[in-house]
Amino acid sequence: MLRTSSYTIYVDLPCSQEMLLVHTYTGTFDKVSQRVATYVRSLEVSRPPKPLYGQWSPERAIEGEVTPPSDATIELLQKRGYLTSMTRAEEEDFFKRYVEKLYALYARRPPSFLLIPTYDCNLRCSYCFQDHMRTDKNFRHLLRCMSSSMVDRIFKAMLKIESLHGIPPDAESRRDIGLFGGEPLLAENRPVVEYIINKGQERGPVRFWAISNGTQLDAFEDLLGPEGLAAIQITLDGPPRQHDLRRVDAAGGGSWDRIAPNVTMALEHGVKINLRTNVDRGNFEYLTELADEYISRGWVRYPNFASHVSPIRATTENIAPKATFNSLELDRGLREMQDQHPNLKVIGLVDDSLRNQAHRIFTTRGLPTFKPSFCAAHTGMYIFDAFGDIYACWEKTGDERLKIGHVEENGDVHFNSEINNMWRKRTVASNNVCLKCRYNLFCGGGCAVLAWENQGGFYMNYCDGYAQRFRQSVAAAYLDFASGNELANKTAAFCEL
Ligand code: SF4
Ligand code: SF4
Repeated sequence: MLRTSSYTIYVDLPCSQEMLLVHTYTGTFDKVSQRVATYVRSLEVSRPPKPLYGQWSPERAIEGEVTPPSDATIELLQKRGYLTSMTRAEEEDFFKRYVEKLYALYARRPPSFLLIPTYDCNLRCSYCFQDHMRTDKNFRHLLRCMSSSMVDRIFKAMLKIESLHGIPPDAESRRDIGLFGGEPLLAENRPVVEYIINKGQERGPVRFWAISNGTQLDAFEDLLGPEGLAAIQITLDGPPRQHDLRRVDAAGGGSWDRIAPNVTMALEHGVKINLRTNVDRGNFEYLTELADEYISRGWVRYPNFASHVSPIRATTENIAPKATFNSLELDRGLREMQDQHPNLKVIGLVDDSLRNQAHRIFTTRGLPTFKPSFCAAHTGMYIFDAFGDIYACWEKTGDERLKIGHVEENGDVHFNSEINNMWRKRTVASNNVCLKCRYNLFCGGGCAVLAWENQGGFYMNYCDGYAQRFRQSVAAAYLDFASGNELANKTAAFCEL
């Protein structure tokens, strides 16, 4: 007996009498008539289960009579995965095995490395998750700078970690090394940063990037550029006056006037600059002014310039949950604001990458990339601090209880298998809610830290409005193409039922 697969997604296509069916694990997508979509929906054995947090999606009730399509169409629907003869339990078992295999493939990808030259920082932003390290004297011992001998140890350890991922020591693939903090680009840390860059370059092809507050970038000018420090993310939290209220130094003074000239200087050197704005309800309304600032300073004319917003999360007690947005709310609010203020289009929105991924459905014959787990913290990210401790996730760096391992003096890596497994074994099949979710391989199961802090469990889901964001992004991508001739050509690639 046939039933609808538990992993079938329905997307309403705007201004169209048709619907898009997407199937999660077969990776198929088909534009179908409402009649066929209604038939598929009528074979759902029960309402999809609800997640513990948020709504997956408000589903429309089935309207009108259900008329089965032809036998040939039903056979095709089964072949494409939308209908199945497996029971729910059988399909879940099948899906678990599928995720295991997919995850094993991901885990063989080259690892990504980040170094934390120091946990110290010259700013005191109220929402910083590492704030306690600089304000509580019990954590002061953490604020030391990485030594060059520790850099040597870490580079030895990288080779050993790469071999665990199946990468031979003579592989010619390019390494990707990030610098993170604290503030990694403090002027006083320049010697060790230069040492890290030289060491990386001696070892073969490498690309360096950093997440920096940009206040002392001028001390690194000769290291900047496509061959050195090639990409930097810098935070500006609003136009000058707003930014200076939020990104303050230890004496409470603003930081805009130190950052802005450095942004221009780095752009001139060909560094890819991505300006990030951390948004909550307090600075949301100033984003149009910030966009005007980007335009008037000429930054948007550089091909190596990009910007984006990110919602501030209530991850410390300094942040009131009511003052925050989730991704869905922020994306919606900004899109509405864009209609009134077209200049705002120079700032990338939360779901731009999801939208770009959704475009794949209509441009190439493929779906957004499958994610058996949410982020690199669950596969191959290794973050080394000045003490040789290794972390999987940057939000938890400095919390010794959560380090996944340590680099020994000879460069050997000692893993804490319990903590390492906790991070590395979180997939969309490792909690029952994500396992049953039809969006799981696109979403990846949400951020573990946010699940932990909002739901009380690391192995729980954190949906962040994903189902709606996915469907909206796919519908928007469809509209983009429907507005041009392109759609006529591209939809020929569809299997139209
Ligand atoms: S677990 Fe969450 S906070 Fe940590 S790296 Fe992944 S997405 Fe970021
Ligand atoms: S896969 Fe994503 S959308 Fe689905 S339940 Fe898990 S966190 Fe929520």
